[in-house]
Formats: sequence, structure tokens, C-alpha cells
Amino acid sequence: MDKLLRDIAAGATPSEQADLCLLLQAQGPAQARLLASADSLRRQRKGDAVHLRGILEFSNYCRNDCAYCGIRRGNANVERYRMAPKEILAEAQSAAERGCDTLVLQSGEDPWWTTARLGDLVRAVKDEAGLAVTLSVGVRDRAELERLRADGADRWLLRFETSDPELFARIHPDESLARRLQCLRDLRELGYEVGSGFMIGLPPGTLEIIARDLLFARALHLDMIGCGPFIAHPDTPLAGTPRLTDSSVYYNTMALLRLLNPDANIPATTAFDALDTDGRNRVLQAGANVFMPNLTPTRYRRHYQLYPGKPCLREDGLACSRCAQDRLQRLGRTVARGEESRNPATQS
Ligand code: SAH
Repeated sequence: MDKLLRDIAAGATPSEQADLCLLLQAQGPAQARLLASADSLRRQRKGDAVHLRGILEFSNYCRNDCAYCGIRRGNANVERYRMAPKEILAEAQSAAERGCDTLVLQSGEDPWWTTARLGDLVRAVKDEAGLAVTLSVGVRDRAELERLRADGADRWLLRFETSDPELFARIHPDESLARRLQCLRDLRELGYEVGSGFMIGLPPGTLEIIARDLLFARALHLDMIGCGPFIAHPDTPLAGTPRLTDSSVYYNTMALLRLLNPDANIPATTAFDALDTDGRNRVLQAGANVFMPNLTPTRYRRHYQLYPGKPCLREDGLACSRCAQDRLQRLGRTVARGEESRNPATQS
């Protein structure tokens, strides 16, 4: 492992699954060196400025029954809500005033939100709040993606969740990995900035699976890569699945994500704060350059628990935006202003 770390410090990229498995197990001083290499590469390629991309969880209706997700169709304990377009627009305007450069609109796969309705919303957010718009609403077919792109949607976030087709099929009764990947290809061809990623530690949670997911994510040449720990939700078929015994693996995965994708935008995802109280801070110091303050109005937050232990359930958008700014300041980082250039690796 020492040689691998020396090679990384000298600018080499680990590319073999076996090497990645070794590095995923780094602990103590070896782990400190791994995280520091990722932090230094982040500083070199992305600078100290962190992009604030406010996330608004605008509907928890979902037609899918994904085995890991707390808002799956089959969870009758969830009170369903759907924010009205006017309410969403008001939040978008506040987001712009609070330093966000992008609004991430996330929801379950909610058929009420037809392409026409989503398109009207995207246009209004862009015209009235002047923000870039990321959609994170699941899989849509190419014609719909094309229409939404024409309406001004800039980015799309769709995790592949796991690169193992059999595992994907087991936990997604309504979907296939092939269709998700086709959607990612369509998005790229239509000129979207494309974000994807995976959950770290989905059962069986072996190092080999994580290493394969890391290599798979790199092969997709993504603009943005969002990954977070899998956290078992009690109202799902995966209830009771234990966390990885060695929690260093979650952070090592993030560091390797940066080392494998030097120019990608990598967020410190919310689920890290459910894992450890300072989880997102640790990820910001291990390669991440994006932070996503939660803008969802307080009254809806407890109904959007994809996993238990989600932080800030009693806060509002203003509190989360302020907290994000404080946290960045304490870490010696600044808030990025305006649009940044895309990942050069995806431009060819
Ligand atoms: N319906 C949209 C948004 C999904 S929610 C879509 O399908 O793209 C956003 C992400 O939350 C998911 O992609 C998944 O990776 C993550 N997530 C869901 N349940 C989770 C859990 N139990 N633990 C950790 N992450 C989870």
C-alpha cells in the first residue's frame, strides 16, 4: 500500500481493482495520506471555492419501489406531499439570494410532474431566479429529456446506484441498469451536464463491488459524481442491513473518487452527515468541491427521509444556507460565485 500511496502522491492514478481494494482499506497514517492526496488534487484542479447547489425536495410521490429507499411506493408510513409551482418558485428566489448558483430539483418518480409541467417550472426558475437548474427526478425517455433541455434544464442527476446488473435488478423491481445507462447517454448527447454515482456499501457491501463501482463511474466520464453511504431504512426490505464494519471505507471511497476523476464536481452528500455528525466536513477535506444546502421547507422535511438520521429535519432553507457558509469558512474554503467550467474530460 505504501508504494501505491507514493505513486498517487507523484500523480499516478490507481486503475486496477486489486489496488483499489487495498487502498479502500487504508487506516491510520496510510488513510491520512490517501485523504490528503485527494484534498491536494482537489485544491489544484478545482481550487478552494465550493459551489453551493441548493436542493429542493419538491415531491415525495413515487411510482417505484426501490428496495433501499424510504419514499418507495410501498411505504405506507410516508405522508405524501407535492409542492405547488408557486411555492417552488418562491424557494428558488430565496436560494439565489442565499448564494446558491444552482437549484437542484429532486423528487420521487412522480407522474403528476409531466414534462410540460416540469418544463414550465424550469423556464420560470431560470427567468425569475436566474439560477442554473439541475433535475433529479429519475428516468425519462429521450423525447422528454430533449423537451426539458429546450426549456432550459442545464444538468441532470441520475445515480446508477450499483454497477452490478444483478444487484441492480434485485433492488429495483421497476427498472433496469441498461435503461438508466441509456438515459445517461441520452443526457450527454442532448448537451446536459451529467451527474451520476452510487451508494457505498449496498449489501453485500464488499470492497470488490465498491472498487468496480469506482472504475465504472470513471468510465462514464461524468461532470458530477455524487456518492454517499447506504443507510438502511426501517420501512424497506433492506431494513436492518448493518453499516460497513470499517467506516474508513466510506471516506476512502470519496478520496479515490477524486483521485480517479481529477476534474469532476464531487459533492459532499447529505448522507455523510447521517453517518457521522461531521461527515460532510470530512468529505470536503477528502476531495469534494460541492455542497448542497437543503432548501426544502421545514414542514416537508420529515416526509422526505430516504434514509434514517437525515440531518436538519427542523431547520429551514435559510438556516441550512447559513450553516453551509459557516462550515466552509471554518474549513478555510470560500463560496464559489457563478458558473464554473465543465469537466474537460467530458468535452471530447
Ligand atoms: N427519484 C430520483 C431521486 C432519487 S433520491 C432518482 O431516481 O434519481 C436520490 C438518491 O438518494 C438516490 O439516487 C439514492 O442513491 C439515494 N438513496 C436513496 N435511499 C437511500 C438510502 N437508504 N441510503 C442512502 N442513500 C439513499
